[in-house]
Amino acid sequence: MFPFDFHEEKTSRAHLAEPARTLRSLSARTIELPFMAGAPPNLVSLPSPSEWARSSTEEALERCDALGACSETKGAILRRALTPAMRDAHALLRGWAERAGLTVHVDALGNLRARREGPPGSRTLVLGSHVDTVRDAGRYDGPLGVVLAIAVAEALREIALPFALEVIAISDEEGVRFGRPFLGARALAGTLDVDDLALRDADGVTLAEAIAHFESLGTSANGFGDVEGLDACAIRPEDLLAYVEVHIEQGPVLESLELPVGVVTGIAGHVWRTVTFEGRAGHAGTTPMTLRRDALAAASELTLAVERLASETPGLVSTVGQVVARPGGNNVIAGRAELELDVRSVDARVLADALATLDAQIAGLAARRGVKVSARDRFASPPVVCAPALQALLSESVRRVGLPVHALPSGAGHDGRILATLGPIAMLFVRSPEGLSHHPDERVHAIDVALALDVTLDFVRALAARVSGTDSDSVTTVSDSGSDSVASSVSAESRTA
Ligand SMILES: [Zn+2]
Repeated sequence: MFPFDFHEEKTSRAHLAEPARTLRSLSARTIELPFMAGAPPNLVSLPSPSEWARSSTEEALERCDALGACSETKGAILRRALTPAMRDAHALLRGWAERAGLTVHVDALGNLRARREGPPGSRTLVLGSHVDTVRDAGRYDGPLGVVLAIAVAEALREIALPFALEVIAISDEEGVRFGRPFLGARALAGTLDVDDLALRDADGVTLAEAIAHFESLGTSANGFGDVEGLDACAIRPEDLLAYVEVHIEQGPVLESLELPVGVVTGIAGHVWRTVTFEGRAGHAGTTPMTLRRDALAAASELTLAVERLASETPGLVSTVGQVVARPGGNNVIAGRAELELDVRSVDARVLADALATLDAQIAGLAARRGVKVSARDRFASPPVVCAPALQALLSESVRRVGLPVHALPSGAGHDGRILATLGPIAMLFVRSPEGLSHHPDERVHAIDVALALDVTLDFVRALAARVSGTDSDSVTTVSDSGSDSVASSVSAESRTA
């Protein structure tokens, strides 16, 4: 059981030296931060992390702090791909990864790749996350998953695994520098091409120039700023066993359930649609209500319909985040209104049905109000499902650590969306206090990080047992998993083992 007199506890490093008080210190870490009333309210009901996880958590959180200090801006975190700040982060990551017994190189796109080989012919389990950030970022969105992966690799250093293990610190997920997200994962997936090299940052520097310059910073990059360099980044699908990422939730669900971690079911597909209503501008005093064609009223009706539809549809979120009305004025009926719609679901059918329903509603309300309507999709991406077999394994690990399993979708995009084109993916979410992310006050509860470490280590061991065929449950689990690719591949290996 935990000590829970948190309010008297401060985060003095002196306390951390006392093993008996380590956990109290872990919990206390959160109270130094703004808006925080203390450790998680359900601390007392949480299982006790292993000794390894407790000490590794201290180190992992210190490493997140150290990475946070690698920034392009003073007093705030900004770390974009292929910058001197990223080079500084790489120097730290390289040292930590080498201490964990991994061999490090940086690929052409600036992904730091730390690897231990497996038996001849074995495939690779990739653990990782991104280390680039948004502007004025927090310390945990991305880096947490990387430092936890390194900690797990270190714990397994002396243990034989039936697969290669690679920790990847992905160089560009947020897309802040070149205005296009997932460049790092796209290089890993082999879908980056020569046209992408011409992308320019705000200073006019092309991606190709940035790659060449990054090499000159002394990063030991293997790339050459050309297509061959990029080709060498790619992971062959037949070499990938799975991609597994630990990431902060960035939302309020786990906190509302008082759960430290959650198993991700998939990454939501989403559609960004611009809907434009054309009515007739007119005098707000002289035009009778019955003779109006008010574009803003039509957009408002749609906004409420969008909210209602998602409220009534499980697994759907939809939002109108912006409405621009023209000509704009308190005494002018809006002749034109342009509305930005964001619709998301991890279920492709739910997403398609929602869009069809909204189309019908838009047509109906436009006809009723006598306004013209047009719609244009600015961006659309399909949902990505986390491999059921991996979700099941991860859920078993969560249970073995002593936690209830909660499965939840990711509404935000992640590198797994891209890497799922190569093979099976899985994600574990760690509770985000107040759902806060992309914000300097972003934080984590240390106890949650410790439990996430225990879950991840247990998961890698369970996967190793499954691949080695030493897990007596493998046949049932595999047959339960249907056509899932990890299941079939693991199944094939189990049978030949
Ligand atoms: Zn992230």
